Amino acid sequence: MGALLDEGRVMLAKGAAAIEAVVAMIRGLEEAGYYIAGKGAAPNRDGVFELDAAIMDGKKRRAGAVCALSGFRSPITAARAVMDKTPHVLLAGSGAAKFCAEAGLEPVDDPQSYYTPAVRSQAATDALSHGTVGCVALDRAGALCAGTSTGGVLNKMPGRVGDTPLIGAGTWADERVAISCTGQGEYFIRAAAAADVSARMKYAGMSVDAAAAGALADMQRQGGDGGLIAVDAAGRIAMPFISHGMRRAACDGAGNVTVMVFR
Ligand code: ASP
Repeated sequence: MGALLDEGRVMLAKGAAAIEAVVAMIRGLEEAGYYIAGKGAAPNRDGVFELDAAIMDGKKRRAGAVCALSGFRSPITAARAVMDKTPHVLLAGSGAAKFCAEAGLEPVDDPQSYYTPAVRSQAATDALSHGTVGCVALDRAGALCAGTSTGGVLNKMPGRVGDTPLIGAGTWADERVAISCTGQGEYFIRAAAAADVSARMKYAGMSVDAAAAGALADMQRQGGDGGLIAVDAAGRIAMPFISHGMRRAACDGAGNVTVMVFR
């Protein structure tokens, strides 16, 4: 994660758009196989790998997402293609796969040998464990972008879709703030957690720190847990979580780097 962050820092310092950095970071995390996203994704109860991802470009308020997508290596690349190449925001299941094939995205030819579920030992339990990846970025032109990619929760039912690909639930970016969430998606959906961070800033005049903490607390009151990463238009970073730990890394405008798991 630290090495990837450094690549992102260099990209943004050279003037890359936030969206380019977000896609590059999330692709790297998908390919790493260490997280329950991309190569590390775990299968659903039927043994099928169904993945979700979303991207949102805050300045232009454009968004793209895929859900319950099988057979393609990089769900975040698929989400971006939905944003760039279709009039839609979210494509699901077989329709999403058909679109990815037509768009020439890299397929997974043999799921059994490609995927290396990041949490194999837990896959045998009934617990709905999770391990999503996400990235938020602010570029030199002031544009914000958020992206999130996941294999969802372990032991999920076929067809289950979490918060990650739902714009406003697990992923959100506007002119004010970019947010990417992780945790038990059902709770984030019911709290509209990602959009709630922006709403608190907009209507209550909160800082990104207070807004992120407030949105998480609201979600926790319903019984959920997890965390989120956020960056606002002034480059202020918030990475609160109410779970045991959250693997996270950040680089601010002055080049100060943080890579942490626990508090
Ligand atoms: N939020 C994801 C989901 O519910 C899981 C996670 O964040 O690990 O699909």
